[in-house]
Amino acid sequence: MEFQELKDCRFDGSGHFKLDDYTTDVHVKKELRPNFDALTETNTRRMSELQGKLYAEGREGVVVILQAMDAAGKDSTIKHVMSGLNPQGVTVASFKQPTTEELAHDFLWRAAAKLPRRGCIGLFNRSYYEDVLVVRVHDLQKTYRMPKRVLDTSKDDFFEQRYRQIRDFERYLWENGYRVLKIFLDVSRDEQRRRFLDRIDDEAKNWKFSSSDVAERELWPKYMDAYEQCIDRTATKEAPWYIVPADQKFYARWLVSEAMAHVLEECNPHYPELPDEQRDDLAAARTKLLAETGGRDDRAERDETERENG
Ligand code: ATP
Ligand code: MG
Repeated sequence: MEFQELKDCRFDGSGHFKLDDYTTDVHVKKELRPNFDALTETNTRRMSELQGKLYAEGREGVVVILQAMDAAGKDSTIKHVMSGLNPQGVTVASFKQPTTEELAHDFLWRAAAKLPRRGCIGLFNRSYYEDVLVVRVHDLQKTYRMPKRVLDTSKDDFFEQRYRQIRDFERYLWENGYRVLKIFLDVSRDEQRRRFLDRIDDEAKNWKFSSSDVAERELWPKYMDAYEQCIDRTATKEAPWYIVPADQKFYARWLVSEAMAHVLEECNPHYPELPDEQRDDLAAARTKLLAETGGRDDRAERDETERENG
């Protein structure tokens, strides 16, 4: 399998989406790992610089959605992405089983409450996509307290409506100054089995394992159908999906860093330019501060001392 570039993982709704067209593993040789780690590192620096501008400018917000089966690497991906960002401009939200309060609202309610401000990045660990994934796989909609007119539709119609609502919501976000980046960490069933075994055998990882994970795994084909449908129906030019091969973690991390750097570049943020009168203010403040030391700029001495002290 050839290496894939970001564009090879992108699905923007043109044509028909088939999960089988995407691989979970590109089998990068072990010796090449350092090269990918170095590329990820470079992207991390790019991200950091762009995020600084995004925050300073405060015009556009970015929502990064991570969806995946268990053990695909969502948590470690978030940890990595975070390492390159200033925590001040980032929020992380994890979407677990809805509470009674959440279930009593429309399904987008809890996601809307977690949107970042413009200028910030919101990382969603799972998201409203669970409402067309786990809900579809387990037919949870049947248990919802909703009027007959909503529930008395066929299962397909119910979820078609939700796909449309999601597309509309993401369009609404786009029109309100947000970009939505949607990432599916595509892990194979075999690799999931190996990672579960790691979690069982390694005491430090035991806490990550729950026996219900194995029960969910039994439903793998149903989940893959649900992912396929949902990606097919919700990918758009403004909010495409990226199907990231996730069997090799370092490779997935590189692609996610590519996607993040790319979306931030699309935002094309700039530090705000100072209006002339503020420039004059700065000049006046400078003169005043220098006057305190009789016009002597003592920063060179400070820098020298810092160098000496390491
Ligand atoms: P970990 O990697 O730690 O297992 P996780 O994201 O799987 O992280 P869990 O607490 O294990 O976290 O699982 C959260 C569970 O909540 C998932 O099984 C997910 O499918 C479920 N969930 C999320 N949103 C919904 C929803 N709207 N309706 C029903 N279940 C949901
Ligand atoms: Mg879990």
